[in-house]
Amino acid sequence: MRIFSGIQPTGRKHLGNYIGAIRQYVEGQDRGDPAIYCIVDLHAITVPWDPATLRESLYDTTAILLAAGLDPERCILFRQSDVREHTELTWYLAALTAHGDLNRMTQFKEKSAKQRELVSAGLFFYPVLQAADVLVYKAHEVPVGEDQRQHVELMREIARRFNERFGPILVEPEHRIPEVGARIMDLQEPTNKMSTTGGSEVGTVLVLDDPKTVTRKIKSAVTDSGSEVRRGDGKEGIANLIEILAVARGTTEEEIERQFEGSGYGDFKAAVAEAVVEFLAPVRERYEELRPDGSALEEALTSGAEKARAIASETVAQVREAIGIGPA
Ligand code: ATP
Ligand code: MG
Repeated sequence: MRIFSGIQPTGRKHLGNYIGAIRQYVEGQDRGDPAIYCIVDLHAITVPWDPATLRESLYDTTAILLAAGLDPERCILFRQSDVREHTELTWYLAALTAHGDLNRMTQFKEKSAKQRELVSAGLFFYPVLQAADVLVYKAHEVPVGEDQRQHVELMREIARRFNERFGPILVEPEHRIPEVGARIMDLQEPTNKMSTTGGSEVGTVLVLDDPKTVTRKIKSAVTDSGSEVRRGDGKEGIANLIEILAVARGTTEEEIERQFEGSGYGDFKAAVAEAVVEFLAPVRERYEELRPDGSALEEALTSGAEKARAIASETVAQVREAIGIGPA
């Protein structure tokens, strides 16, 4: 069982990333043979970026992943741009990707609508690079949040098309989406997902926020004019908090609804805030220890890239051979 997933180094990661993706990465280390995790700096440059900030944020994200429990001895953790095979395979796969399919991608529609200056061709091509990320490792499983469902479907389609035409070289990966917490919503706009690049500041709980900030953000979460702690129509805000609390306490949403029957929103939010603070504290504390040692982070990434390249270069050689690129 080969596992692959990627995470962007844009800014500091949020509770949605932690619940929807990072937790699964940690769990995957014991099942993956190997589990491969990539910090996708090449995806980060599909929207405007600042070069110096990108470099620093990459180390921030690396330290968050290590602090959350990734162990470079038990998984392959690396920086996407260090393994050039990703970009090379992107081009080969582009030849088999339908323009119309890329046009249908909701992430492209949403992100392009937010761009004020330039909608880059890179943003349009994002899912092809993502397909290359996964297919270059012949991964069987891709742990992601709900928002990536469509992109995983597309990479399956690309792999299928490739194999039909050139023989069984690539693997059609399965997505692995958590049952609870696959789509954590922005606390201020609970109909939008919590997001690294698009969300509201107060509506986004960062993994590294201090307890006061976490509490303030959760207490100011948008709810509804009702008073019942349960899920239902028009109760997206409360439903989101129920889901967050269920994950933080390791229980079900039904159980949370039962526990808070008859409670008001104030008490409920206080409980959510407390649970989230406790949930994130160990990661933040460990991060503070790891982040200052930039060269240790760089060493971990460099040695991860070597292991990744060994797998990726083999796939690219097979692909080139099959499609008639380069000498026989
Ligand atoms: P952006 O909005 O700029 O794409 P992001 O917040 O989605 O940023 P990514 O690095 O693209 O961050 O995503 C990393 C992982 O986190 C992906 O697997 C994605 O599906 C998951 N994820 C992102 N947002 C959420 C969310 N709100 N709830 C659950 N999982 C999420
Ligand atoms: Mg994303």
